[in-house]
Amino acid sequence: MTVNGAQGPLIRLQGVGKTFARKGSFTEALVGVDLEIGRGEFVSLLGPSGCGKSTLLRVIGGLLEADRGEVTVEGERPRQARAEKRFGLVPQVPALLPWRTVADNVRLLTQVNRNGGDHRALNARQVTELIEAVGLSKFTHSMPHELSGGMQQRVSLVRAFSLGAPILLMDEPFASLDEITRADMRYLLLELWARSGATVVFVTHSINEAVILSDRVVMLAARPGRVVTTEPINLERPRTPETEDEPAFHAHVSRLRHALREGHAR
Ligand code: ADP
Repeated sequence: MTVNGAQGPLIRLQGVGKTFARKGSFTEALVGVDLEIGRGEFVSLLGPSGCGKSTLLRVIGGLLEADRGEVTVEGERPRQARAEKRFGLVPQVPALLPWRTVADNVRLLTQVNRNGGDHRALNARQVTELIEAVGLSKFTHSMPHELSGGMQQRVSLVRAFSLGAPILLMDEPFASLDEITRADMRYLLLELWARSGATVVFVTHSINEAVILSDRVVMLAARPGRVVTTEPINLERPRTPETEDEPAFHAHVSRLRHALREGHAR
């Protein structure tokens, strides 16, 4: 994936800074962040808790205004891109409507979006196919509370992809899952991403997760929040659990672990 294609990067950040003021003290959540993300790329923002990952994701998604620097999404301000429904959001905890079935949770949001003028939304048959693809056919008419956390997060993922937004912002979507479910979810996410052609910006504090998923890993460090290094991940796709046994996988993990330590030490 080239970052600078004929039309330039999809998302561009130049010298981005964000400071929070609370009770007379200031936190430099982000300083001098330069970043370019290409169309269709899978980029992870990796770093320890409090290093500014969520802040960066929210700045990209137009949910938070940067104090310094410039952010553009296809040449537009993030807020404008958000108004045009270019972003889909996958939160940490799946935000399903508790009084609607699985099918309705997926379908309803698709309809809402379509009324908002988005013609990329999938039709009902495609939504059913997606529910099938993530192994939840038997639960199509179940209510969210009848599903495990992992199943709910699968519905949440399907919903995000079925909306057809070209950019998906994911804020540690697997954080509340057990390790085994979490490992399965990674490959499910990769499958959905490969089918969709969407651009994904994925926040995580797991090095392994960032490496197995991404085209590029952007490592952040705290106080002040900044980019320490960017690591292109040259592992073949489609990636499988066997990829995690490859020496190249371990080499990436090891390099990032060192970068994380250096970031801390500075
Ligand atoms: P991460 O996602 O990497 O855990 P965050 O982006 O949530 O980090 O936070 C980065 C820093 O900014 C932290 O020190 C956090 O306490 C601070 N911060 C985040 N949001 C706010 C806010 N609304 N008000 C004050 N400080 C904040």
